[in-house]
Amino acid sequence: MGRYTKANCRLCRRVGDKLMLKGDRCSTSKCAVERRDVPPGYTGIRKRRAKKSDRGLQLQEKQKARYSYGLLERQFRKFFAEAERLPGITGENLLILLERRLDNAVYRLGFASSRSQARQLVCHGHFLLNGRKTDIPSCLVKPGDAIAWRETSTKSEYYKLLVQEIEGRNVPGWLALDKEKLAGRIVNLPTAEDIEVKFDEKAIVEYYSR
Ligand code: SF4
Repeated sequence: MGRYTKANCRLCRRVGDKLMLKGDRCSTSKCAVERRDVPPGYTGIRKRRAKKSDRGLQLQEKQKARYSYGLLERQFRKFFAEAERLPGITGENLLILLERRLDNAVYRLGFASSRSQARQLVCHGHFLLNGRKTDIPSCLVKPGDAIAWRETSTKSEYYKLLVQEIEGRNVPGWLALDKEKLAGRIVNLPTAEDIEVKFDEKAIVEYYSR
């Protein structure tokens, strides 16, 4: 499956917001948005962002969501189509569907410092979902599901380091984490308040409605 492989910080600078794509670095003064909050390619002469049209703002919100979850346009559109198909408000459905991805749940449980790292861990088959090995990052979790490390993965150096670091990681309300066993559980469906990077879901719906 395709994915974006260039510099992540360029994506944040392009949309002018911190998308938290590089783990711990994002919370330090090394963050590229903190240091140079202009789109990539801007020269010393053009220091300000051009004013955006309504369409441009809608596109920006869509890109923020897409970049945050590390999806290609085709993958993001599939999520949007599913959000439209479900009963309820399309924008909220979209937020919930994106947040329910297995790679996102692994990231939000603190098992990885970024979604791209979480995706890699899932793809490499380090996790059990309800006791079964699952290596599909786009798989959707639901309340009652359990996420655990595979026995063989608990012998890795990464896991040993994680055991020491997990104490300082916060878990959103829709998840529960057993810090001793490094096992997670889905307690509820996520809500809009649980989303880490805020974006305007109504603008995304308007973007695709044209
Ligand atoms: Fe880079 Fe993270 Fe800052 Fe984005 S938030 S610019 S990924 S350091």
